[in-house]
Amino acid sequence: MAEFTMELNDEQKEVRDWLHGFAADVIRPAAAEWDEREETPWPVIQEAAKVGIYSLDFYAQQYFDATGLGIPMAMEELFWGDAGIALSIVGTGLAAVGVLANGTEEQIGTWIPQMYGDANDVKVAAFCSSEPDAGSDVASMRTRAVYDEARDEWVINGTKTWATNGGIANVHVVVAVVDPELGSKGHASFIIPPNTPGLSQGQKFKKHGIRASHTAEVVLEDVRVPGSCLLGGKERLDERLARARERAKAGGERVKNAAMATFEASRPAVGAMAVGTARAAYEVALDYAKTREQFGRPIIDNQGVAFQLADMRTSIDAARLLVWRASWMAVNGKPFTAAEGSMSKLFASETAKKVTAQAVQILGGNGYTREYPVERMHRDAAIYTIFEGTSEIQRLVIARTLSGMPIR
Ligand SMILES: Cc1cc2nc3c(=O)[nH]c(=O)nc-3n(C[C@H](O)[C@H](O)[C@H](O)COP(=O)(O)OP(=O)(O)OC[C@H]3O[C@@H](n4cnc5c(N)ncnc54)[C@H](O)[C@@H]3O)c2cc1C
Repeated sequence: MAEFTMELNDEQKEVRDWLHGFAADVIRPAAAEWDEREETPWPVIQEAAKVGIYSLDFYAQQYFDATGLGIPMAMEELFWGDAGIALSIVGTGLAAVGVLANGTEEQIGTWIPQMYGDANDVKVAAFCSSEPDAGSDVASMRTRAVYDEARDEWVINGTKTWATNGGIANVHVVVAVVDPELGSKGHASFIIPPNTPGLSQGQKFKKHGIRASHTAEVVLEDVRVPGSCLLGGKERLDERLARARERAKAGGERVKNAAMATFEASRPAVGAMAVGTARAAYEVALDYAKTREQFGRPIIDNQGVAFQLADMRTSIDAARLLVWRASWMAVNGKPFTAAEGSMSKLFASETAKKVTAQAVQILGGNGYTREYPVERMHRDAAIYTIFEGTSEIQRLVIARTLSGMPIR
């Protein structure tokens, strides 16, 4: 276990500075353009692939950093650059983690490289779980996967929504119901290989923020995939389903397990994205407050402005510490007895929303225009309290974990 320290080590600082350079020189200058275009910023992804930021190697290095801080640090810097472009760069990672977490070694080796492509021909991947009637309530998912034993194929039907990179991905990871009796325990994940007949993009959403990131419906009509596309394989699925049936017979899951370890480990990464956006807006506001003069003096001379900046910075630092704690706990296998991962995502996302709104206020009329980046950052920040579990769902998970009660 790594010794406790509040400082990044030299290698981490080097990576952080390198990422910051890319965010400042490549991402930030492109942000306004891709926000207006509302299109995937392929040239920026390509640039990230050329320098090695858009690659499985880079992601894996950060993921396996023994201190746990590799991923949060990378997320914070990239999202400091711009949230929409950064999500286009890291969105593939969300699908890749789905395969890393549940796939066999062969599946990992076959599919993850195809998710990224290479620097001359970059590809993206999508993770499709949410449905029109199954957002927070994942258990009401309807997309169905049925096993055709004679052909050793799975047949998948349903409609996914809100999929980041949905329809433009080379590889889609789709969660589907394999046993409707078991609620969320009866779900399994499937790889949908490139150009599989029956998968198509539905509507592409026009969004409030993170507009450079592609979000769309994914329609699955009699999509047939080979048995080898079931993540983890049939044997492991059958064992898992048998255990779930036994538990269901014995009276179901205990509420004690409300803080599901996988989500607790992945949510801090979203918290770190929020910290990046909040920090970016705070920095713009601080600079502005020091240079903008009214009543013959910089506006920061007023406590009303200076104290807001003090509060903004305090909240951002507190959010980062919660994110780092949860990330450290995840990598060291600590039990999330107070849903610390959800806590970090809740606090960081609410902080980003608040801080970006304060930044708009400090810039006055300029803050309300697209001449200055805080307007975009404020729109972008609104996503953090919604995806990967809304703030209400984080509170539900925390409250259930703390109390052991089935709070609704
Ligand atoms: C830009 C974007 C990208 C996304 N990317 C992906 C992706 O790549 N893959 C994917 O699978 N999904 C993705 N999502 C989906 C996202 O995770 C869902 O939007 C989110 O889980 C909320 O679901 P919902 O939108 O259906 O809201 P709902 O679940 O309908 O919630 C609506 C409101 O009701 C509240 N609410 C619901 N239940 C309760 C309760 N029990 N107690 C208190 N309040 C409650 C919610 O907090 C929310 O405020 C994305 C969404 C967006 C907007």
